[in-house]
Amino acid sequence: MGGETFEIAKLKSSYPKLSAHPVGQWIPNIYKDRIGMFTGGGQYETKNLRAMLTEGSASGEPHVKLSVWDAPDLTRPTFKEATSHKFESTSVGSWFGPSWSTHWFKVQLTVPKELCKKELLELRWDANNEGMVWTEDGNPLQGLTGGGERTEWILPKKFRDGKEHTIYIEMACNGMFGNAPGGDSIQPPDPNKYFQLSKAEIVAVNVEARHLYIDMWEIGDAAREFPADSWEQHKALKIANDIIDAFELGNQDSILKGRKIAQEYLGKNSSSSKVYDSGTEPIVYGVGHCHIDTCWLWPWAETKRKVARSWSNQCDLMDRYPEHRFTCSQAQQYKWLKQYYPYVFDRVKEKVKKGTFQPVGGSWVEHDTNMPSGESLVRQFVYGQRLFESNFGERCRTFWLPDTFGYSSQLPQLCRLAGMTRFFTQKLSWNNINKFPHTTFNWVSLDGSQVICHMAPSETYTAEANFGDVRRSVTQHKSMDQDNTSLLVFGKGDGGGGPTWEHLEKLRRCRGMADTVGLLPRVHLGEGVEEFFDRLEKKASEGLDFVTWYGELYFELHRGTYTTQANNKRNNRKSEIMLHDIEQLATLASIKSGYKYPKEDIDDMWEAVLLCQFHDCLPGSSIEMCYDDSDELYAKVFKTGEKIFKDLQSVLGVQDVSPTSGDNLLALNTMPWHRREIISIGENRAGVACGEGNLLNIKTFKITETPEVTVEEVRKGVFVLQNDQLRVSVEDGYISSLYDRKAEREVVAKGGKANQLVIFDDKPLYWQAWDVEVYHLDSRKELSPGTTKIFQADAHQVSVVTETKISDKSWIKTYISLSAAFKGQQSYVEMHSEVEWQESMKFLKVEFPVDVRNTEASYETQYGVVRRPTHYNTTWDMAKFEVCCHKFADLSEHGYGVSILNDSKYGFATCGNLMRLSLLRAPKAPDAHADMGRHHIRWAILPHTGDLGPTTVRTAYNFNNPLKLAQSTTPITPATFSNPIKLIGNPSLILDTIKRGEDDEDVSRGELPKRKGKSVVLRIYDSLGGTSKGTIETTLNVKKVYKTNILEDDEDEISISDGKIDITLRPFEVATFRLQL
Ligand SMILES: [Zn+2]
Repeated sequence: MGGETFEIAKLKSSYPKLSAHPVGQWIPNIYKDRIGMFTGGGQYETKNLRAMLTEGSASGEPHVKLSVWDAPDLTRPTFKEATSHKFESTSVGSWFGPSWSTHWFKVQLTVPKELCKKELLELRWDANNEGMVWTEDGNPLQGLTGGGERTEWILPKKFRDGKEHTIYIEMACNGMFGNAPGGDSIQPPDPNKYFQLSKAEIVAVNVEARHLYIDMWEIGDAAREFPADSWEQHKALKIANDIIDAFELGNQDSILKGRKIAQEYLGKNSSSSKVYDSGTEPIVYGVGHCHIDTCWLWPWAETKRKVARSWSNQCDLMDRYPEHRFTCSQAQQYKWLKQYYPYVFDRVKEKVKKGTFQPVGGSWVEHDTNMPSGESLVRQFVYGQRLFESNFGERCRTFWLPDTFGYSSQLPQLCRLAGMTRFFTQKLSWNNINKFPHTTFNWVSLDGSQVICHMAPSETYTAEANFGDVRRSVTQHKSMDQDNTSLLVFGKGDGGGGPTWEHLEKLRRCRGMADTVGLLPRVHLGEGVEEFFDRLEKKASEGLDFVTWYGELYFELHRGTYTTQANNKRNNRKSEIMLHDIEQLATLASIKSGYKYPKEDIDDMWEAVLLCQFHDCLPGSSIEMCYDDSDELYAKVFKTGEKIFKDLQSVLGVQDVSPTSGDNLLALNTMPWHRREIISIGENRAGVACGEGNLLNIKTFKITETPEVTVEEVRKGVFVLQNDQLRVSVEDGYISSLYDRKAEREVVAKGGKANQLVIFDDKPLYWQAWDVEVYHLDSRKELSPGTTKIFQADAHQVSVVTETKISDKSWIKTYISLSAAFKGQQSYVEMHSEVEWQESMKFLKVEFPVDVRNTEASYETQYGVVRRPTHYNTTWDMAKFEVCCHKFADLSEHGYGVSILNDSKYGFATCGNLMRLSLLRAPKAPDAHADMGRHHIRWAILPHTGDLGPTTVRTAYNFNNPLKLAQSTTPITPATFSNPIKLIGNPSLILDTIKRGEDDEDVSRGELPKRKGKSVVLRIYDSLGGTSKGTIETTLNVKKVYKTNILEDDEDEISISDGKIDITLRPFEVATFRLQL
C-alpha cells in the first residue's frame, strides 16, 4: 500500500438522497394466492388470462352439423357396420345411454371464414364419456376422454377452406373408470347411466396465451412449492406477479410481454423441444405411459377400444413433440390392436421403428405374480416376447409391472431366463404398514439370479408431470447413496389416453427452469426406459454396487386377492393342470406317432389362461362383467382341452370307461414319478393303480381279513377313522386328534380343533375385493357344526360327513376321509367340502392348530418354497398376516412337520402353531355378487416325519392331478406303459413340463424362423432349495441336447450318452433343456 491517490470525484453516487415513497415487504401468501386468481376459473374467469385462451369459436349448424346412429343392444359395431346405417339429426344437449352402449356421430364441420386464418383450430367435444375420432373413410385418429379431459381434436389444415368436411365420432357410454353410480369408482357399475353431449364446437386457440398459461402454472408451482428459504422461491413469486402486472385483458402484446418476463425464470427455449438440448446433465428421465388395465371396471371389449384411443393419441403427440417417448407393455393389447385396428397398429409400428414408441415388459399381460404357476409365469414371457419379437423385430429387455399386488421371489430368475435384466414397478409404495426402503436396487431371486429394479420415486405410474412430481423424484428417492437418477412415468391411464400436450409442455418448462434458476431436479425427455436402465447397467459394470433385496417383494395390502373370486382361481389352477397334461401327452404322441401337435389350440388355450391372469382378473378385483367374460373364456379352454384329450386318448389306445364293460382298465397319469394310489372303478369298487408312465395298470383292491381302514362311532358323535399309519378322531365335526401311529406322536395341538371352520367379519378400510385388514382376525367366530354321520365305510376308504350351518342362507358340508395306507408311502387325511355361500362381507377359513413349533412356515411358490414368519415380532413380520401359497403350506420343526394341501386355494396364514387355509370371501365391490353360490373345495392334512421334503411336494402334485380312469381299446402290453423320458436322481428335482419346441418345423405357426427337425423341451427345477443332481433318461433318438433359456434359445450343449443326460441344478434353479431329435 501507499503511494496511491484516491480520485474523490469517482466516489460520488447517484443514489437519491431522499426516499421517494414507502415500499412494503410482500406478504407471501397474498402474492401467492394472486397467482391462482390469474389462471383459475370462478369470478375472474372472464377477466383474467383464461379469457384470452381462445380467439373465437363456432357451434351449431351450419358450422357443426350433428347426426347420430345408436348401436343396438350394447353392441360395439365396426366403423363399416356403423356407417352403413342411417344417421338421425341430433344436437348438443341431447342425452345418450344407457351404460356401455355405443353411439356413432357424423360430424360435418364448416370452419367460418373469420377463423380460417387462425393459428390453431380445435374441435372441442365433451359428452363426459370416452370417444374416438374417425376420418370419413374409416381411419381411427384419436381418443377423447370427456369430463374436461382430452376434449380437443386438432382440425387438419385442409379443413380451413370454408367447405364442409366430415368426421365420425364413436361414443362409448362409459367414463375412464367405467360406470360407477356416484363418486366412488369401485362400487358396482350402474347399468342405467346416461351421458349428455355438452360441447361440440370449433375453437381458435390463442397459442401464445396458452403458452403463458403453462408458464404461469410452473412458475406458480415454484412460488408455492419451493422452500421459503430459497431465493428461487422468491424469484418465482416476483416473476409471476410481474407477469400479472403486465397483463391487460384483450391486449395480445401484454401476453407476449408476459412470456418475455417468464423467460427470466424458464429460459428462452422452454416452450420448444430445444430446451432438452442444453447439454446439462439430467437426473430425472420422463417417460410417457398409459397404464390400461386389461379389464377392471370395464370388460375386455372396452379395453380393446381404450388401447386404440390411447395409443393413437400418442402417435399424434409424437408428431408434434419430437422429444416425446412413450412406453407400453402387454403383448395382448398389441395383438388386439393389430387384429381390430390395423391402421393404428401400423402407426404404432412406424413409431416403434423410430424408437419413439417403445414396447416394454416382455409379458403377455401385466399379470398377477402371486398365483399363476411357475409354467404360467414362463409362458407370460414366452408368448409376450415372441409377439414383440415377431412384430417389432426385438424382444423387451425390461420387465414392466407397475401395478400388481406383490412380486414372486422367482421373478428375477425368470426375467433373466427371458432375456430381461431389469424390472420396473411401483405398487409397493401403497404398502400400508412398512415403507419399502429402496428406489433402485438389485432384486435377488431364490436361486440367486438378480435384476436391477427401479421404483419411480414420484410413487406413481400415472404422474400428471407436475412440478411436484419432478421434485419428488429427488426428495423421495431412497437410493441416492448409490445413484440419483430416476424415472418419471407420466400420462393418464385406463382410457385417459396417456400423456397430454399439457404434460409435455409442463415438463419443457420444468427443464427450462432447472437450467435457468436451478433447484428443481433436471428432467429430461427423449430417452426411453431401456436407455434409462442401460445407463444403470453401465454404472454397475463400472463398479457401482446397488443395494440388494433378497426374496419376494411382499405387498402389504390387497391380501384378500388370494381368495376373492374363488371360481376364477379354481379355473386358473384347473386350466394350468390341463395344459400341462395336454402338452406332455401331445408331445410324446407327436414324436411316437403321426399325431399332429395341436399348436394352434394350445396357443389359444395358453393365451386365454394368460389373459385371465391379468392383475385385476385373477386377483378378483374386477366387476362382475369381467368374470362373465373370463368364465366364458375358461369354458372354451376346457372344451378345447377335452377335445384334444379325446384325440390323445385314441393315440394312446384308450377311451373313456364304458359303463357296460369294466375290462382293460387303466389309469391315465401325467406325473413323472412312480405312483401307487387307490382309484375308484365304480360304485363301492376300488382298484390300486401302480407304476410309472402315462398309463398305469390297475389291480383290484384286495380285501383282507383285517380291514386296512376303518371307521367307528366310539361314543355318540365321536368317530375314529384309522389306517396303518393314522388315527383320526372326529368330535363335533372337528378333528380332536390326529395320531401318527408310525411316528408315535399327536399332530393336533393339545386342546386344539383341527379342521375347525371359522368365520370373520371382513370389512377392510376401503378396497373391498382387494383387502382383508389385520383387525379382521379379532372377529374370529367358530362355526358350530350339526351332527356328524358316517358317509362311507368301504374296505379301501372311509369317511364321515358333517353339515355346518353358516347362516340362514349358507351352509357347508364337509367330508373327512381316510384311505387305506400303502407301506412306505405317507398317508393323509382328505377333506372335501361343498359350500353354499350367500354371505356379505364375511371371510370363511379352516384352521389347523398343530403340535409343531417353528418361527417360520413354508409356502409353495412358483418353482420353490418361500419361508415366512409365524410370529409378529416386527411390523414387517406382522404385515404378513395373510400370505399366498400354491398347492401346499407347511409347518415343520426338526424331524417332523405338517403340510396342508389344497386343490384350488391361494390364501393362507400361519400364526404360531395355528395354520389357517382361507376358503371364501364375500366382498360387495366392485362385483356385488362375488363368490355367491356353490363351491367345491378339497384340502388335506399331510403329517410327515422329517423336514419339509419331496413327500409334500410330490403328494401336493398328485393331489392336484388325480389319476383318470380309462379303458384300453385293445389288451395292452407293459412296454406301452413306459415313458420315453424319465428323470432320476435327487427327489427334489421336478420334471415339470414336457412340450414341443416352439419353432420346430412341424409345430411352428411361422411367426418366427423355423428350426429343422423335432425337439422336446423339458423344464426341470429344484423344488426344495439344494444343489441337486439328476439324470434325464430317454429312449428317444436324441441327437443333441441344449440347456436353453425359457425362450428356447440354445445356450450350452450338454453331453448325452446311451440316452442319459446328467444334470446339476442350483438351489431353486429353473432349467430348460431342449432335446434335438
Ligand atoms: Zn392396473
